[in-house]
Amino acid sequence: MILPKSTRLTSEQLAEVTAIVAEFGCKIQPIVGAMRSIYAIVGDERDDLMINRLEGLDYVERIDRIQSPFKLMDKRSDLASHRIKIGGVTLGEELFIIAGACTIDPKNPNYFYETAAAVKEAGANALRGGVWKPRTNPYSFQGDVKSLDILMEASRRTGLPVDTEVMEEAHIALALDAGVTTLQVGARNALNYSLLRAIGKAIGGRDNTAVLLKRSIHMGPLNEFISAAEYIAAFGNPNVILCPRGTTPTLDGYRNHPDESITPLLKEKTWAPVVVDPSHSVGKASYVPSAALAAVAYGADGLCIEAHVEPAKGIGDDPKQALTPDVLRKTITQARQLWALRKG
Ligand code: PEP
Ligand code: MN
Repeated sequence: MILPKSTRLTSEQLAEVTAIVAEFGCKIQPIVGAMRSIYAIVGDERDDLMINRLEGLDYVERIDRIQSPFKLMDKRSDLASHRIKIGGVTLGEELFIIAGACTIDPKNPNYFYETAAAVKEAGANALRGGVWKPRTNPYSFQGDVKSLDILMEASRRTGLPVDTEVMEEAHIALALDAGVTTLQVGARNALNYSLLRAIGKAIGGRDNTAVLLKRSIHMGPLNEFISAAEYIAAFGNPNVILCPRGTTPTLDGYRNHPDESITPLLKEKTWAPVVVDPSHSVGKASYVPSAALAAVAYGADGLCIEAHVEPAKGIGDDPKQALTPDVLRKTITQARQLWALRKG
């Protein structure tokens, strides 16, 4: 839909926009109003180049798109009834909980094994553990490939499927070959289109593999978030879970700006399940349980929570934001009760 700056296009302007859209197989249908006219683009209006050329005209105020730019992740796409299943749980059918350490300590694997057992006992459906870590400070611990063995051993001991972040292409095959079921794309890489494409290619057709896509703090409109998921899905595996995790910090006190309230907005646009990460959102263990419940109240399909048997002994984010097993158990129980209340 073309909205001109003036009340209506001149005949020359109408001829110009008609010629542009014709190059993309579309037509213009003027909608003449008493005060103002607007111009519908009839046909497939998804070509960005067509939109860019129209937006570049100095007499055009705005272009509103009726069609969604994402073909697969859109709520109105053929995939709308697609369901993602991880470790026997279908997302949407029960609250899906991923929990575990921020960062696996390769020198002290027992902390992770004990955390994995505690997370299972607390009722989690999947285990998270960071092998490779995106750290703001280049001198902080960057992760260690040795932790991948620890992660998989914890998975064998508990029977839980695992989630770990991949930061570069080389990590993808290592993680998949080891048996990781959910590849995490971190907030820093959620706009790294070559990584998203590489993940999409690597998991295309692997029905039992999923991606937990964090929301980048640099993502503006929600379409940008859903389009990042579309990059992955375009290669044949639509198992992409959207994970709000807090956006650019604007509040003194929280690590990031909590964004669990975007869940209903995402659900209006996409069928993709939403698993909220309250840990990175608020960044402090004492605030995490409330943030987790808020996420469920807003309609999240699941939660991704950092937990550790002894947070103070953890590395990475764990000393400040990991829940102890007792608090995790209570949070999961309350979150499931709230989820049931919402569904009931
Ligand atoms: C993490 O999950 O430990 C992590 C680094 O998350 P994010 O990418 O959301 O910062
Ligand atoms: Mn972390």
